[in-house]
Amino acid sequence: MPTIEIVKESRELKELMHKIKLFLKEGFKGEVQEPKALIKYYWEASLKAEQLITMVFGKEGGFPIDIETLAEKLGIRLVLENLNEFPGWRSMNRKIGQIEIVDNLFTDEKMNMIYIDKEVPPFSKRYAIAHELAHYIMHYDDDDYYEDYCIMPMCPRNVEEIVADIFATFLLIPVRYFFEEFLLYVKRTRDEGRGPVTTERWIQYLAERSMISEYYVAYGYQQLRYVAYWIYRAWNEEKNEAEGEKDIEVEMTPDEREKVQAETKDYYTEEMGELLFE
Ligand SMILES: [Zn+2]
Repeated sequence: MPTIEIVKESRELKELMHKIKLFLKEGFKGEVQEPKALIKYYWEASLKAEQLITMVFGKEGGFPIDIETLAEKLGIRLVLENLNEFPGWRSMNRKIGQIEIVDNLFTDEKMNMIYIDKEVPPFSKRYAIAHELAHYIMHYDDDDYYEDYCIMPMCPRNVEEIVADIFATFLLIPVRYFFEEFLLYVKRTRDEGRGPVTTERWIQYLAERSMISEYYVAYGYQQLRYVAYWIYRAWNEEKNEAEGEKDIEVEMTPDEREKVQAETKDYYTEEMGELLFE
């Protein structure tokens, strides 16, 4: 690739990272208490994760997301290490991942590292990288930053932890692939006469395809449902309105509808609307 293209590409990536950083730091605020604002927040978060993935891998990608390459493209060095050499009083827990952003005093160079515990199973490792990547996007221009991620399903101690998990899920399960995979799964189960499709089996399958543990799929499933609902609304509002079935609880403006349609038109189909929604 000619140098000029690489420079342009990395400039675009930096601009997108900056946009996502502002969104992740500012987006999850008071008004999110309103149902519509929460649904829209998830939609925006899913869209930003997808833009990042598309910019790095192109539109032809699919499951599983190559989260290690994504991290490296954003300027992170991944290092496998024993992160649990000195078990302390919290030995019932294990550190899986750790992010460090430091300004090297000697070389004046910024170092962005994600350390991953070498004993960690692959699926947990992938989630830990995605989670730390969300922190990285929020802090990449800090002078120094440190955070770690543990194997025990600990409760969040601040909003940033919640935001990091929301974004990590959308990075590992982009909504576009979620829809495509869901439709394939339902059709295949039907065609092979193996129905009905149960939540448990589908979650298990989605976990295998996205290569993250079922726990994290289940954890992120509600946010995927909210985004799915918003996309469905955008495509079916006019039809439903004509049939007197308008969803009046949550308003969707013509602008919002157009934006969602524009962003999803290359994968959302009528068949999805018919088979995947109740
Ligand atoms: Zn965290």
